[in-house]
Amino acid sequence: MTGFIDIFGQDRAIDQIVRAWGADRLPHGLIFAGPTGVGKKLTANTLGGLFLCEKPQGDRACGKCDSCRVYPSGNHPDYHYIYRQLVRIEKSELKARDLSIDVIRPYLLEPASRKPAMNRGKVFVIEEADLMSSGAQNSMLKTLEEPFGRALIILLTNAPDSLLPTIRSRCQLVRFMSLPVEKVKSELARRGYAAQDALEGAVLSEGSLGRAISFIDQGVVAATRELRKRLDGLNAGQGSGDLPDWLREAAKAYAAKQLEIDDKASEDQMTREGLALYLKLMSQYFRRRLTMCEAAAMEAFCGGIDAIVQAEGFIDSNVNIVLILQALAVRLERVFRVA
Ligand SMILES: [Zn+2]
Repeated sequence: MTGFIDIFGQDRAIDQIVRAWGADRLPHGLIFAGPTGVGKKLTANTLGGLFLCEKPQGDRACGKCDSCRVYPSGNHPDYHYIYRQLVRIEKSELKARDLSIDVIRPYLLEPASRKPAMNRGKVFVIEEADLMSSGAQNSMLKTLEEPFGRALIILLTNAPDSLLPTIRSRCQLVRFMSLPVEKVKSELARRGYAAQDALEGAVLSEGSLGRAISFIDQGVVAATRELRKRLDGLNAGQGSGDLPDWLREAAKAYAAKQLEIDDKASEDQMTREGLALYLKLMSQYFRRRLTMCEAAAMEAFCGGIDAIVQAEGFIDSNVNIVLILQALAVRLERVFRVA
């Protein structure tokens, strides 16, 4: 089983948790706040295993009791992992854009009010907790305050300020940090990734080991190399070429990978998420160029970034993706047209 020692680069957060655990002062509610992919979920999972262990050895689960034996399978009856796509099990026609009461009621409130299946209490971990509707957040206040029996509720979020003050005041905040790019790069190399992948994955993920790994494994790093070539051409006044089609295909490939991982995800939503990712990488490209260019080129790069920001604004609307990309290509060509 994973121990806290296996969590990479989050010493302060781990120290805070281990000290509270050691002093028997772990609150019912915890907020793990920090960027995606820096270890919040792994830490919650590790703490959950420790919390449910029948004979913990200090800050390590024993690895031998009934609870520890079933825990690594992911099917522990008292460990509840809650995420927005669960709504599609309850009501398949609903879009899983936020975490509504339709998820919180059956997956948190109801099991929280029942006796645990084994005898060490219950753990609930809520992914992207800031996406909970205010109704969903309000519905869990009582459970956070006075849970039925021994319980631990961990909210994972990259935007803790978006949670209601009433939720925040009932939980202890644990902050997880982005890691230095250099540190992510060397950890990736240590795990056997090729040097170029390690470097590019570390830069693209902005200091998140988990994201860097998924970017490499899911082909985002390789696709970004292609994207860079196209942007170099655009920058040289060669027009946008097949950029709109390329972006659409890259976003579709991204969605296909996400559906392999989670078959409850929505293809349309994942395509839009993929597109948002590649647009973000495009604006990163122009931003990096901005820092090393002459005044004349600066205006073009700023114009490029503005065009991308406008396209990003349309992604979550109902506007057709093809139209968004065509409009973006027209604007980019105008900005980078050679006189
Ligand atoms: Zn155990």
